[in-house]
Amino acid sequence: MARYTGPVCRLCRREGLKLYLKGDRCYSEKCAIDRRNYAPGQHGQRRTKVSEYGMQLREKQKVRRVYGILEGQFRGYFGKADRQQGVTGENLLRILERRLDNMVFRLGFANSRSQARQLVRHNHFTLNGHKANIPSMQINVGDVIQLKEKSKNSAVIKEIVENLGQKTPPAWLELDKEALNGRVVALPTREDIDLPVQEQMIVELYSR
Ligand code: SF4
Repeated sequence: MARYTGPVCRLCRREGLKLYLKGDRCYSEKCAIDRRNYAPGQHGQRRTKVSEYGMQLREKQKVRRVYGILEGQFRGYFGKADRQQGVTGENLLRILERRLDNMVFRLGFANSRSQARQLVRHNHFTLNGHKANIPSMQINVGDVIQLKEKSKNSAVIKEIVENLGQKTPPAWLELDKEALNGRVVALPTREDIDLPVQEQMIVELYSR
């Protein structure tokens, strides 16, 4: 499965915003945005006028980068959101939020979405008691993810379990710290998604 594997802090610097792609480092003083809050590259500190298209493109790139999605798949999500009833931009965010890797991250079973994706790929969770190793799986109300018993011996997982519950999950998810599982109690609304993006601009970009 293709994905971006280059340096991720430069993605935040390009967007001029913390995208929280590196887990703990994002909350430390080592964060590149705190140290060099300008675009990467030789001309990063130049002041340039951004066109309307440029602004729309940046909004789209922000969302794509936060969820770690490549362009082709993102367009597919947009098409699906467009075919659903309701506000297309919100539909799009809801679809992204309902990815299995995002659920793992939101519940606190991973420090970043990329770590969540890796843990899912490595088969550390079940979904409703069944094998679930596809990060893009869409979750529904009532779904339960469970950390596998045998995964508890892994050093990485042990550390995660120790810190579980430090981050409060969003209202649409319920975490059971003792049983090491999480349940979807509702579908996420726009208010539940703490992303500082103007999703309407993404709709305008793809409607050009
Ligand atoms: Fe972005 Fe995190 Fe890197 Fe800061 S440390 S620039 S928030 S990925």
